Amino acid sequence: MSLVTITTRCTGCGACLLTCPEHALRPTGRLDEPLVALVELCTGCGECVEVCPADAVELEAVR
Ligand code: SF4
Ligand code: SF4
Repeated sequence: MSLVTITTRCTGCGACLLTCPEHALRPTGRLDEPLVALVELCTGCGECVEVCPADAVELEAVR
């Protein structure tokens, strides 16, 4: 289950990929989908939310 959702506001700038300390974000390789998607490494730290210039990252509350 993903803690982070990348929405269609994503411009593919790559800032979140470079920032994530867990390397949990990856390009999808699909032009019709947001350009990054989460793999199973996310800790919910929120750094990708802070760095995204497009406000494209939505972080679920950690249960
Ligand atoms: S919340 Fe933290 S660990 Fe999860 S994808 Fe964002 S930067 Fe990476
Ligand atoms: S920082 Fe935001 S706009 Fe840039 S690739 Fe990540 S989700 Fe997309």
